[in-house]
Amino acid sequence: MQYLQGGPTLKRIHLLASALLLTGSLGAAALPQHSPVPGGVAVIDLGPAGSAAPTARWGEQPIAVVGDKGRWFALFGIPLDTLPGELEIRISAGATTTPRTVAIQVKSYPEQRLTIKDKRKVEPNPDDLVRIEREQKITEAIKRRFSDPAPATDFALPAKGPLSSRFGLRRIFNGLPRNPHAGLDVAVGTGAPVSAPADGVVANVGDYFFNGNTVFIDHGQGLITAYMHLSRTDVRAGQAVKKGEPIGAVGATGRVTGPHLHWAVILNNTPVDPELFLSRR
Ligand code: ZN
Repeated sequence: MQYLQGGPTLKRIHLLASALLLTGSLGAAALPQHSPVPGGVAVIDLGPAGSAAPTARWGEQPIAVVGDKGRWFALFGIPLDTLPGELEIRISAGATTTPRTVAIQVKSYPEQRLTIKDKRKVEPNPDDLVRIEREQKITEAIKRRFSDPAPATDFALPAKGPLSSRFGLRRIFNGLPRNPHAGLDVAVGTGAPVSAPADGVVANVGDYFFNGNTVFIDHGQGLITAYMHLSRTDVRAGQAVKKGEPIGAVGATGRVTGPHLHWAVILNNTPVDPELFLSRR
């Protein structure tokens, strides 16, 4: 993590003086909600859209840049373990690279205590740990992906049902502190359909120790979504999917207390709150 001590002066960035070259192809992308908190998304105005999009990086990790209403915006996913203060990203336009600080506000998430009947899912045995490590390498590589297409960021809820466990809960399984809840749960029964929230390409389909049967969709520019604990998967890696297209069915595979959909949204290799991407009316 990159935490900046003190407060470097926020520099105004004058990007793309050729602002008059507005391209007609920049439609309304329906940006995610700006929420500069741990687990949130900072929507950063990069100025009027010229002929070429600027690029943005956080360390080595590229950051999505999308056009909306004639302006460019960086969509920066903020890690859940970020402390209040400032993070620095770098914006490049043409030959010029400029640092930009992002002020991170405080957000504290509630605690959630859960009891898992399958104790191995909380205290894995040595064989399980080998499997978990192997699977983590696969999923970490998927989360780091950065493909070219500009992502659609106006998501539909992928399953019809009430939202249950929200993003960011500090989790205690069987009395043991574990990773925070890095997704949003939809309370639906086994067999209920799960659909793509936006257009994308299936990045991976697998059966994972904690996540159960899982589908990952790459929406472009580091925006990746994942659907976990499925009873059934209906897509293959490499397959293009359209918004609303079925990708599988809800289940109770992996580490669960019962059937539900766990939906994760990843931006720049960082899980963020999926609710920030849901259409608001
Ligand atoms: Zn969940």
